[in-house]
Amino acid sequence: MDHDVMKIDMQQSFKDCPVCNYGDGFHSMFKKAGAELQWLLICPACHRIFDLGFKIPK
Ligand SMILES: [Zn+2]
Repeated sequence: MDHDVMKIDMQQSFKDCPVCNYGDGFHSMFKKAGAELQWLLICPACHRIFDLGFKIPK
């Protein structure tokens, strides 16, 4: 599943899907990453997963 995660270098905002251009925002998913949780975003239209580098403490 990790190969489906696309790393994003976020600019001003991240609202439109870079794969399918869906423009109404993203779903969230969380994944364990060592002592932290990774916060990943999922496009509701094409279901690609994006990693913007968000980490939250467990
Ligand atoms: Zn999409």
